[in-house]
Amino acid sequence: MQRKLAAGNWKMNGTRASLAELEKIAASRKAPAIDVLLCLPATLLSSASALLAESHLMIGAQDCHAEPSGAFTGDLGAPMLADAGATAVILGHSERRAAYGETSDAVRDKARAAHAAGLTALICLGETLAEREAQRALDIITEQLETSLPDTATPETTVIAYEPVWAIGTGLTADPDQIAEVHGHLRRLLTRRFGTEQGPAFRLLYGGSVKPDNAAAIFAVPDVDGALVGGASLTAAAFLPIVTALEDSR
Ligand code: PEP
Repeated sequence: MQRKLAAGNWKMNGTRASLAELEKIAASRKAPAIDVLLCLPATLLSSASALLAESHLMIGAQDCHAEPSGAFTGDLGAPMLADAGATAVILGHSERRAAYGETSDAVRDKARAAHAAGLTALICLGETLAEREAQRALDIITEQLETSLPDTATPETTVIAYEPVWAIGTGLTADPDQIAEVHGHLRRLLTRRFGTEQGPAFRLLYGGSVKPDNAAAIFAVPDVDGALVGGASLTAAAFLPIVTALEDSR
């Protein structure tokens, strides 16, 4: 059994002053019963990893290039993120799929690069509102899962986050039946591809407006192994109750 995972995505937020929030989270969880990961802007990785060297809090990045190095101005290779202290990287977030045209093929190549650098790939997928209303949510998710995961994916190197696009940053959350349907579908797809030992061991996170007041209900849904949290991961005051809810759901 893999440990549950509470992951935060700070997006393009945070300066060195924000590291105080990380210190508060680390101080309150000296030996967490679950994994806790904060995916920070790349500018904060080195200072955060130095600050948290003695803690169990893990640090991640939010994207990487498919090549390890080269003439790609402004980009960051997975080995550079690992060198700065990241142990994981978010890939295929819907904001990147939408704003930068990232396809599932591109996400797969990035995930392969992340694995080669020893990083856990936290691969995001999810349907838009129009796709859900057209009854296409499961088809979209199937394509995203099947294409975005490289053959290097294992339950140890890869985490999947189901994030309905319409629930990200909107205050809307998928209801428990919707989450159960998609997570059950993902579990079946993973088991079909990776087998009955590995398929059930992949961690499936839910993401989309997870907050202290809805976390427990979401964590009670079958096949939810944790959360990817955006806005509510920016402060210890909002993130710690979510960590507690996940610990209590074990
Ligand atoms: C996210 O950005 O991955 C996310 C889930 O954001 P929020 O929790 O703010 O909806």
